[in-house]
Amino acid sequence: MPDIADRLKNVAVSASVAMTQKARDLAAQGVRVVGLSTGEPDFPTPEHAIEAAYAAARAGDTRYPPTDGTPALRAAIARKFKRDNQLEYDVCQIITAGGAKQIIFNAMLATINPGDEVIIPTPSWISYADIVKFAGGIPVPVLCPQSNGFKPYPADLAAAITPKTKWLLLNYPGNPTGSVATRADLLAIAQVMLRYPGIWILTDDIYEHLIYDGVTFYTIAQVEPRLYDRVLTVNGVSKAYSMTGWRLGFCGGPQDLINAMSNVNTQNSGGVCTLTQAAAVAVLEGPQDLLRERAEIYRQRRDYVLERLAAVNGLSCHKPQGAFYLFINIAAFIGKTTRNGRRITSDADFVLALIEEHHVVTVQGAAYGISPFFRLSYATSMAMLQEGCDRIAAFCRGIH
Ligand code: PLP
Repeated sequence: MPDIADRLKNVAVSASVAMTQKARDLAAQGVRVVGLSTGEPDFPTPEHAIEAAYAAARAGDTRYPPTDGTPALRAAIARKFKRDNQLEYDVCQIITAGGAKQIIFNAMLATINPGDEVIIPTPSWISYADIVKFAGGIPVPVLCPQSNGFKPYPADLAAAITPKTKWLLLNYPGNPTGSVATRADLLAIAQVMLRYPGIWILTDDIYEHLIYDGVTFYTIAQVEPRLYDRVLTVNGVSKAYSMTGWRLGFCGGPQDLINAMSNVNTQNSGGVCTLTQAAAVAVLEGPQDLLRERAEIYRQRRDYVLERLAAVNGLSCHKPQGAFYLFINIAAFIGKTTRNGRRITSDADFVLALIEEHHVVTVQGAAYGISPFFRLSYATSMAMLQEGCDRIAAFCRGIH
């Protein structure tokens, strides 16, 4: 058989996708599975987005779009950045793609030379390291300890910088921990980055609107304008507006970088589906109240699960103020045995035993670069969460 490219050799299949598939397989066998692994909202896409897509289709907006985004969408994104983040981006500094994931992919492909290093505060979203490797770069994890709210110490970031460092990636509220960077956290990171003018900074703000307890969202170009020329501010409609299937991500950034990304975009895509673009204009320009309403529902779910898990001996969890994940420490169970006689030597063992013995699907911390933890997504109904917590509690009670 002909060969597959070498560049794919180090690129892993996402563990959360693998776990979700495991859940589907069990469900297909008739097992009642509690799925707490997926990273997508369970709310429907807003009605006005669907109406706008339908109207666009009826009006014949079904031809090739401008690759970087329609003028209407790029203008709506510019207004969004101004309204929500006090960031001024000219329309030509804005580009769209098939999800924040593709935006990040295009940014890395447009800038990374073989051997360039990308600093990734870890635990981190599974895809960052693989995208960097795909582009020929080297991911450099910087450990963010639980004791520091899973945020990096600025001195550790500084220590990871070398002459090969090309990017620093930031993601707050973060996947998988739900950690939120305060203004002071970002200013401290900015202090480090100001000393290194040759490094780009990508901030993935996809969970911007999933933020609780009255905490304010900040993004780094907003708090330190002297970094504006080196920051790529990435966002999208997937998480905020429950539009994961529509595939739209966007970013604002310095013109040279955007031009290079546009070049990548023209070669690897024909632009985002026109109907999606119409729907995105509708949600970005439409009423924003649903963001607060949905955030309040997520907060209630977070509080419920936290309270239930706090009552389980052996589990320890910090209280995240954003996104829809809990990242739970299971150090107390390592080296122990489940009721069915399985030995738990790692978080992967814990997660697998939880699926097979109690049919609850989560993802092991190792997939995000730190152990022993598991990630639980509370983007699901209260009934599912209740059942999930019952089963997790029963599973943990059986470990000895
Ligand atoms: N960034 C982070 C941190 C995520 O967790 C995800 C999805 O799980 C994405 C980006 C993907 O966003 P999109 O659906 O816009 O590609």
